[in-house]
Amino acid sequence: MATLELRNVNKSYGSGLADTLKNIEIKIDSGEFLILVGPSGCGKSTLMNCIAGLEDISGGAILVDDADISGMSPKDRDIAMVFQSYALYPTMTVRDNIAFGLKMRKMAPAAIEEEVARVAKLLQIEHLLGRKPGQLSGGQQQRVAMGRALARRPKIYLFDEPLSNLDAKLRVEMRTEIKLMHQRLKTTTVYVTHDQIEAMTLGDKVAVMKDGVIQQFGTPQEIYNDPANLFVASFIGSPPMNFIPLRLQRREGQLLAVLDSGQARCEIPLGLADGQLEGREVILGIRPEQILLAQGEALPSIRAEVQVTEPTGPDTLVFVELNQTKVCCRLAPDAAPRVGESLALQFEPSRVLLFDAHSGERLGRLAAPASQERGAKVTQLKGR
Ligand code: ADP
Ligand code: MG
Repeated sequence: MATLELRNVNKSYGSGLADTLKNIEIKIDSGEFLILVGPSGCGKSTLMNCIAGLEDISGGAILVDDADISGMSPKDRDIAMVFQSYALYPTMTVRDNIAFGLKMRKMAPAAIEEEVARVAKLLQIEHLLGRKPGQLSGGQQQRVAMGRALARRPKIYLFDEPLSNLDAKLRVEMRTEIKLMHQRLKTTTVYVTHDQIEAMTLGDKVAVMKDGVIQQFGTPQEIYNDPANLFVASFIGSPPMNFIPLRLQRREGQLLAVLDSGQARCEIPLGLADGQLEGREVILGIRPEQILLAQGEALPSIRAEVQVTEPTGPDTLVFVELNQTKVCCRLAPDAAPRVGESLALQFEPSRVLLFDAHSGERLGRLAAPASQERGAKVTQLKGR
C-alpha cells in the first residue's frame, strides 16, 4: 500500500511533436482506486507507462510514499502492470506464467508454489494451472494476466484497459470481480479505461483526460454532478446529458434561460446577478433523469410533444424538442407517454448547468442545491 502523487508531469515524445502529457497533477491516498478515463489517444497509456517506468517523463516528478521514483528503473519501482494485450508467455503454462516474476526475483520454490496457489484461488483459476494460454478463453487469459500482477504484492497496481478485449457480459462480471478484489486487497491501483461506466463504478477518484490534459479530477459523484466543462459533462453519463443552446435573457433584473417547445415557452430564473451574462450564448445542460413530469406549480414547467419513446426495461427514454434540439427525458416505464402526446415537463433549477457556448467552460450552478452534498458546492459564477 502506498500513496501516489504525480507532480506537474509532462511528457513529450520528441521535438516537433505536440506534448503528449501536459502538467499532470494527481494525488491519491494509500489504498485508493484511481481511474484514468478519456478518449483513445488522450495519453492514458503514456501516463501509465511513465508511472511504471517504461517511459521517461520530460518534466515533473512521480512520488510513491513521498519518495521521487521518476529516475528509477521499472524493476526497482515495486509496481505491477496488467496490459490491455495480456502479454502472456505462450509456451509457458498458466502456473509458470504466474510464477515467472517471482522466479526472476529469486523467491524460494516452496514460497512460489504457495503464492501461485493463493492467487489461483483468489481468481478461481486453480483448474487451469496446467494449461497454456492458447487453451484458454479471453476471460481466462485476462485472469491469468491479473494473477501474474497479483502474485507480486507490489505497492501499486496499474491496469491498462484490462477488460477491453472481453465481450460485454464478461466485462461486467470482471468489473465486479476487480472491485471485490480491491476491497479485499486494498492495494493502491491506477486503472485506465475509455468506458465511462467502468470509471463511475470502480473509481474512488476519477481523472478525466483529453489531449494530454486532466480536465477534472475528483470523486465519481463530483465528476457526474459537478462537471468542470462541456467535455466532462458529455463524456460521463448514459444516456448523455442534454445540451440545449440558448441566449440568456434579462427581465426585471433577473437572468433567465428561455426554453421553447414550439407549443409553449418556459422561463427558468437563474438566480444569477451578473449583468454581463445578458445576451450571452450558453449551453444549458441537464441530465435525462433530472427532467421531471410536472407536479404542481413550484418549478418552472413547459408543455412539449413526445416525438419518440424508447423503453429500456427499467425506464423509458422519451424524446421531445426544446429550442430545436432533441432532448431526452428518462421516465419510469409506467409513466411513459405515447408518441404525439403533449407532456408537461419540469426543471429543478439547481440541477441545470450552464456552459459557455464557445469555450465550453462551466459558468456555475444556477442556484444552491437543496442538499449541500460535497460535489455540489459551485454556486458562484466562474465566468468572465
Ligand atoms: P491512449 O492510451 O489514451 O489511447 P496513448 O498514451 O497511447 O493514448 O497515446 C497518446 C498520444 O501519444 C497519441 O497521440 C500517440 O500517437 C502518442 N504516442 C504514444 N506513444 C508514442 C511514441 N512512442 N512515439 C510518439 N508518439 C507516441
Ligand atoms: Mg491506451
